[in-house]
Amino acid sequence: MTERRVPVRDDLRALEGYHSAQIPAEVRLNTNESPYPPPAAWSADLAGALATVDWRRYPDRAATDLRAAIAAWHGVDVANVFAANGSNEVLQTLLLTYAGSGRSVMTFEPTYQLHSHLARTSGARVVEVERRSDFTLDVDDAARRVAEVGPAITFLCSPNNPTGMVEAPETLRRLLAVVPGLLVVDEAYAQFADWSALDVVGEDRPLVVVRTMSKTWSLAALRLGYLVGPTWLVADLERVVLPYHLDSAKQIAGRLALDHVAEMDERVKLIVAERERLVEKLDALPLDVFPSGANFVLFRPRSMGGHEVWQALVDRGVLVRDCSRWPRLDGCLRVTVGTPEEDDRFLDALRAVVGTVRT
Ligand code: PMP
Repeated sequence: MTERRVPVRDDLRALEGYHSAQIPAEVRLNTNESPYPPPAAWSADLAGALATVDWRRYPDRAATDLRAAIAAWHGVDVANVFAANGSNEVLQTLLLTYAGSGRSVMTFEPTYQLHSHLARTSGARVVEVERRSDFTLDVDDAARRVAEVGPAITFLCSPNNPTGMVEAPETLRRLLAVVPGLLVVDEAYAQFADWSALDVVGEDRPLVVVRTMSKTWSLAALRLGYLVGPTWLVADLERVVLPYHLDSAKQIAGRLALDHVAEMDERVKLIVAERERLVEKLDALPLDVFPSGANFVLFRPRSMGGHEVWQALVDRGVLVRDCSRWPRLDGCLRVTVGTPEEDDRFLDALRAVVGTVRT
């Protein structure tokens, strides 16, 4: 049979897809999920609530109850909250609304790959500004490039994926003062860090903070993310996003999750404590370990290739993220904080592979 292929858009011809290898492994520490299931009470509440859904009807288009619950949690108004199918869809909607053809988007690399990927699929030109070799951001250089390029959207990811580093509040203030467009702070991991840009959001500032229920909330399978931003921005996004994009089950599940904030906070504390233990153990091995305010840690083996170490870990039943061939991340691997048992399995395997002598 002869294929009758249709050419993709000219500007997307060189675009690669987003890759995240999923191979079977006993210990999976590669996608920054929570090591703990959501609270049992949440599952029980959800089962009961789902029985009451009128499935004939479209869902509440404005997702009012869900957004009101998120707003109450953050102490803002419902009109400051926009929710979507994972924070990826929040990011995509921002780009469709404010970027697109003829506009540019700025990222500080290395960072979360989907920022530039989604910007390109929106039709925007992406300007990638380099971080220093230790992955910190040179804020003077960043401010200069922003002034030069005039991006419609500037992304800041804090804590940054995949490096784990938290941006200083001062960096945010400096950038906010110079951006001609929107400053998007991706806070997928902010609950594991010691500060958030949420308090800086206001009607008079072109700033949004994007969050997800995939990590802290142990709900990656739910695909629910949101942003907190000015009311005018939320109104703009609502004109662009698909009608009824959030199904009834998701709206209910997300709202019910917010009944368990205290339990979720406990999990965050556990994960942060476990991250500190993991970093301490990694620091004792022949690796460069980068500081993390997230639920994962980036490290670079000193005397072996990153990919080689990744494969040897896979052979021992442990899957981490192989960033070793990504631009600017030469030789690096990223491990998600798991349960203490999972992390011990990882550490034992890693010791067996790289040895214990710190060089
Ligand atoms: N932002 C960052 C920085 C992430 O690391 C991720 C998940 N890998 C996301 C957004 C997307 O999360 P979600 O599951 O909410 O789409």
